[in-house]
Amino acid sequence: MLKNKTALVTGSTSGIGLGIAKALARQGANIVLNGFGDVEGARAQVAALGVEVFYHGADMSRPAEIEDMMRAAADRFGRVDVLVNNAGIQHVAPVEDFPPERWDAIIAINLSSAFHTTRLALPAMKAANWGRIINVASVHGLVASAHKSAYVAAKHGLVGLTKVVALETATTGVTCNAICPGWVLTPLVQKQVDAKAAALGVSNEEATRLLLGEKEPSMQFTTPEELGELAVFFCSPAANNVRGVAWNMDGGWAAQ
Ligand code: NAD
Repeated sequence: MLKNKTALVTGSTSGIGLGIAKALARQGANIVLNGFGDVEGARAQVAALGVEVFYHGADMSRPAEIEDMMRAAADRFGRVDVLVNNAGIQHVAPVEDFPPERWDAIIAINLSSAFHTTRLALPAMKAANWGRIINVASVHGLVASAHKSAYVAAKHGLVGLTKVVALETATTGVTCNAICPGWVLTPLVQKQVDAKAAALGVSNEEATRLLLGEKEPSMQFTTPEELGELAVFFCSPAANNVRGVAWNMDGGWAAQ
């Protein structure tokens, strides 16, 4: 379905971003990877699906590096057809103890980076009259949890940005939508499981059960593979008129 198209996924060396990159690659899209950590492992997993892979190590907190990445992606593949804004970080603390530099980093990486990639990708998408912008927000783009001020603010902001871009592209072949996962067992969440296990003096299994039990009625993690399939749907012709939605995959979290 995505043969001869290019998908750029920010924060795709791990977790959800890597899952979405692989799902889009299975549809034939060439992939621009981004993120830190095990770059070669991610590159090998995507290349094994038979598509071309290009990596750019832009730090999503730095607009000049984002500009360089978008230019490099266009130089390499001609255009970015599918943009997935996925890079994100978390910090958990009460507002009065929240380090201001962590606030700034979360707003920059989880929200402002999507503004920069979107403004840079849109002209070519509009010229081609086809494009897909998929913002990986969170159930925290719809509801709040204590001690996550920056994350909840950034994700609500990302859902707002999604709606504005959807309106500005509504008469074109470009769509913009958000995905709102509940808990997904990635390194970002394992840190929160570890913190709970340490704070309560319980096992990893018990901490996991408590974490799910607080918020997620299904008592199940959503997987990067399931989120990848939702991204594929947003790219499909059936989703041509799906615009500005914030689609939960949260085991019933926001239904409560
Ligand atoms: P993860 O830690 O496994 O992956 C995060 C990715 O972002 C990695 O590739 C990392 O290298 C990259 N990254 C971090 N800082 C970066 C920076 N400054 N510049 C470029 N890349 C950077 O986390 P994940 O759980 O896969 O999270 C991916 C997205 O999904 C995030 O936006 C997160 O908020 C969102 N999300 C996660 C969950 C969950 O339960 N895991 C739930 C809802 C939403």
